[in-house]
Amino acid sequence: MSYQGPFSLDQAAAAFLDRAPALYIDGAFIGLEGAARIQVHDPATGAVIAEAIDATAGHVDEAVRSAHAAFEDGRWRDLRPADRERVLLRLADLLEARGEAFAQLETLEQGKSINLSRMLEVGASVDWIRYAAGLTTKIAGRTFDLSLPGGPAHWTAYTRREPLGVVGAIAPWNFPLMIALWKVLPALAAGCSVVLKPSEVTPLTALMLAELATEAGVPAGVFNVVTGAGAVAGSALTTHPLVAKLTFTGSTATGKAIGRAAVDGLKRFTLELGGKNPALILRDADLGRVVPGLITGGFLNGGQVCASASRVYVETPLYDDLVAGLRQALGGLSIGPGLDPQTQVNPLASAAQRDKVASYLTQARQAGAEIIQPIATPDQGYFVSPSLILDPPADARLVREEVFGPVLNIVRIDSAEQGLALANDSELGLAASLWTRDIDQAMSLTRRLEAGTVWVNSHVFIDPNMPFGGFKQSGLGRDFGVDWLSAYTEEKSICIAH
Ligand code: NDP
Repeated sequence: MSYQGPFSLDQAAAAFLDRAPALYIDGAFIGLEGAARIQVHDPATGAVIAEAIDATAGHVDEAVRSAHAAFEDGRWRDLRPADRERVLLRLADLLEARGEAFAQLETLEQGKSINLSRMLEVGASVDWIRYAAGLTTKIAGRTFDLSLPGGPAHWTAYTRREPLGVVGAIAPWNFPLMIALWKVLPALAAGCSVVLKPSEVTPLTALMLAELATEAGVPAGVFNVVTGAGAVAGSALTTHPLVAKLTFTGSTATGKAIGRAAVDGLKRFTLELGGKNPALILRDADLGRVVPGLITGGFLNGGQVCASASRVYVETPLYDDLVAGLRQALGGLSIGPGLDPQTQVNPLASAAQRDKVASYLTQARQAGAEIIQPIATPDQGYFVSPSLILDPPADARLVREEVFGPVLNIVRIDSAEQGLALANDSELGLAASLWTRDIDQAMSLTRRLEAGTVWVNSHVFIDPNMPFGGFKQSGLGRDFGVDWLSAYTEEKSICIAH
């Protein structure tokens, strides 16, 4: 398999596509002649560019056993923290140096703009690796004064944070490289071993990342990748008895299934799930910031972002100008394949996702919503035109469910209080934004919005040093920040009589 399209590829990206993708177990690619395969498509055309292995439960078992053996013999967790840090810093340097191959492969399998792949999948990922590397040398416990009666004259008690063991990491297809790293990095920094299952839609960069990690000095068996279907490989990973912790980003439905499986085995778990994120625009907001802010906040990566704005509540005096501004801004974007750096609107990741988004639009149209689509889509590929849905009926499915596409609902409100009530009227609570110049409103509403992240006068910006995760059914636990590793370690109390 290889890429036959009109763009010339970086040599390393082309060479990777020319090799048949394998599983990455115990520090090497395992070819598995005759194994079942899953086709990987170029979303810009629908052409098949690679065939990844459709791993069985037996393959997952092999990967988990490799990770477990690597954990047990201490080849990674017993390194000096400064040595684990050095390896991760080397990984960051390698990714930075080879970034173009990763960026191109990411755009080829996922569809996003090459500019976004360079800036986020590679550029931001490098920052995240360096941040996590720094945490390896900051793992610490606490000491305690005890009030135990009698016994010896002195007691000393303290805690250690110890790596959990094998981490099963399950990643989605919207930011395949960056989100895979968000799962793998805290595990590696804490001293755990990992088995990563990328989405079957976008398996390629995870495999290349594991190979790069070995080159950086991550010992064999510490970072394994199994490709394959969620229902088989993913499920085998979530139920494997040697997996101590599950970390997952994806839909709320799958997250709940993984949570149930985790509880069954009393595995630790972290879930970053869906969002139905409101943007609340008050009458004093600066439309000069709101319009570009919502173009990014709502349409970055074709809206395939868990924290994307999807429900806009705008006070009536700004409604018409906001709709006109968004329509004009969207109309000025150019649409085409992600490998063309001149385009800003690119295909969705899969035919299934395109069809899913289209079905939400059809249902909203049938329910009487007005839909504005300023850009025509090409004939081939998984494109959906960026869409503004004006005052959708409250019972339209796209009002309540995560669409995960370039679709922004715009609803007029009469007051900030009404907007707040509508914004909070969701089972999900991942993120929200508030647009105002009034500091009192900002301070009050940021406290009352039910979301794990609230932006004021921006939307969708995240940083390794800012904790990220969901309220309500948007997840469990937090990624990033100085406490990132705590969910990948177990706290042990040690009590010494002396
Ligand atoms: P899923 O949540 O099902 O997939 C995410 C990951 O979980 C993939 O690696 C998938 O594998 C894996 N998976 C699926 N089923 C299981 C299982 N039973 N056990 C273990 N792992 C499993 O998302 P979908 O790809 O089905 O997308 C559906 C919708 O989910 C989207 O339309 C969007 O609304 C939402 N979504 C949200 C994301 C977010 O970041 N909040 C990210 C991705 C999707 P495989 O790819 O092989 O199915």
